[in-house]
Amino acid sequence: MVANRRFPPIFFVLGYMAKIKITFPDGSSKEYDSGVTGFQIAESISKGLAREALAVEVNGEVWDLNRKISTDAALKILKWKDDGGKYAFWHSSAHLMAASVESLFPGTKFGIGPPIETGFYYDLDMGDHTLTGDDLKKIEERMVELSEKNDPYVREERKWEDAVSYFKDKKDPYKLELLEDLKGQQITFYHSGQFTDLCYGPHLATTAPIKAIKLLNVAGAYWRGNEKNKMLQRIYGVTFPTTKELDEYLFRLEEAKRRDHRKLGPELELFLLTPAVGSGLPLWMPKGTIIRESLVDFLREEQKKGGYEFVMTPHIANLNLYKTSGHYPYYKDSQFPPITMPDGEQYMLKPMNCPHHHQIYSAKPRSYRDLPVRLAEFGTVYRYEQSGEMNGLIRVRGFTQDDAHIYCAHDQLKQEIMSTVDLTQLVFRTFGMEVRIRLSYRDEKNVEKYGGDAAYWEQAQREIKEVADEMKLDYFIAIGEASFYGPKIDFMVKDALGRTWQLGTVQVDYVMPERFQLEYTASDGKKHRPVIIHRAPFGSLERFIGILIEHFAGEFPLWLAPVQAAVLPITDQYAEYARQVVVQLKEAGLRVEFDDRNEKIGYKIRDWELKKVPYMLVVGEKEKSGNTVSVRQHKKGDLGAMSREAFVANVADLVHRKSLTL
Ligand SMILES: [Zn+2]
Ligand SMILES: [Zn+2]
Repeated sequence: MVANRRFPPIFFVLGYMAKIKITFPDGSSKEYDSGVTGFQIAESISKGLAREALAVEVNGEVWDLNRKISTDAALKILKWKDDGGKYAFWHSSAHLMAASVESLFPGTKFGIGPPIETGFYYDLDMGDHTLTGDDLKKIEERMVELSEKNDPYVREERKWEDAVSYFKDKKDPYKLELLEDLKGQQITFYHSGQFTDLCYGPHLATTAPIKAIKLLNVAGAYWRGNEKNKMLQRIYGVTFPTTKELDEYLFRLEEAKRRDHRKLGPELELFLLTPAVGSGLPLWMPKGTIIRESLVDFLREEQKKGGYEFVMTPHIANLNLYKTSGHYPYYKDSQFPPITMPDGEQYMLKPMNCPHHHQIYSAKPRSYRDLPVRLAEFGTVYRYEQSGEMNGLIRVRGFTQDDAHIYCAHDQLKQEIMSTVDLTQLVFRTFGMEVRIRLSYRDEKNVEKYGGDAAYWEQAQREIKEVADEMKLDYFIAIGEASFYGPKIDFMVKDALGRTWQLGTVQVDYVMPERFQLEYTASDGKKHRPVIIHRAPFGSLERFIGILIEHFAGEFPLWLAPVQAAVLPITDQYAEYARQVVVQLKEAGLRVEFDDRNEKIGYKIRDWELKKVPYMLVVGEKEKSGNTVSVRQHKKGDLGAMSREAFVANVADLVHRKSLTL
């Protein structure tokens, strides 16, 4: 009768069972007996749903499927496609891995083992034992065995003192340290098979759904991320409900390595990072510069159509400018320190273009008739990234923003936001990238992190949401992701590997116009403050190109390809004809290389194939006498002979349309 002790016997005596109301995501609701579990609710809907269910969201919190629900609740059954479902899956996998480690290496001390963006890890103290690849194999195999046992994950609430004595007996100092921070709170344990962990959950109902398991690697990790603490061994792993999904994931991982821009960049002679210049300071080589200039030209043309004016500003400025903007000292840690001159004057490497543009705006009196003023600049800025955080072109210390500031009257704001959103969407469409939009709001619990008063924020957040609704954008709201001066519309872009990047941004700002005392004369003859929109579709050219290299795996669409065609004479005899072809293509504006090396034609073809050049034009006797070229397309091979004019016209058309395919 131990199991029944917690329930007041009166319920049984009266035969009374309380009812609760469960409301589903579609708004429908249904009554259940109090104490029903998420699993039982899923089962009551369909057997299929119960099979797929991994966890359940109860009033916004992710719970175990087996946990009893005893109050009215908004409920969503979570499956693999839901973040909460994956979270429970990977959290449970971390326990399964720990169980496996404990059974193979008794005496291991356990740190923390959370789910992460993809997969999970567990930090372990194994004394003198250093984990090897063979160990990982064994742990993985044991995980498969344990998973097949179909052990339930059992949640148990414990008193703090009981929890402490459990881990004292087990001699697990890390768990005891974690418990110190939880003093006085309700503690939960999770048991699965022989393994018990201190954990809030949530977890799967049983181990069985964890079918496809891969332990990826071991890394050193200081306990609690503090280098004064002991270095533990961290095993990273990933699991999936099916082997097919695991294989796809591992394929993408390999593909990411193959596409890595840090490898392709130097191979394709696009850019260079060298300690001789400094870390995070990329050098653009001629081929990379072609890509970069093509992007700049593209956006410049689009901006001209949109009524932007171009400005240019220096790379350093008086420190006071950034004191006015608030970028100094608030962001001191992410900037290069000020440069102090012998006379005491202080300068700073430009971390932002905004304050410079505000000076240009206020250089002359502005009337409502002048608005909106749209100032654009491909402006290079410098930020001090920690050396451990630098990563190829993705995180650098010097980069160029496709920046612009729009100064408008309040009644123009929505229209201007819409135009910037349109422009940004056009940009990503051009590269075949899928976009989701994030409305980034401030965190009401941390208002001191932000400038401006509550009324500004409320208004600005309402306005960007109105725009998103009116434009029928596919958006979600993220609390705490705003910048310090205003809410943002961020473009979350999916690349060819399905990875999401935060790229373009559109930010509404009511704070800087105050700080810089920006004004215009309205139709009522009075001075008013304009609103500023900060926006940058690419964000940073460096980062964007890094992402593009990986998105296209170095096989750029024709309009971006540094070399669009290579002309290859079969032998020396046809070099003169080949040269005529080269001249003709160059005159038509194409980027062509002439390969007159004294090599076999087969060798040259393989070489240009490796360089990922879209077209090779092979010329010999047949082509010379017919005044044609034989066209080979990258990855596709021989397309046959074509008149020179037809080839030029075809290529010019693909470039003009910025076609993604050849
Ligand atoms: Zn857990
Ligand atoms: Zn700005």
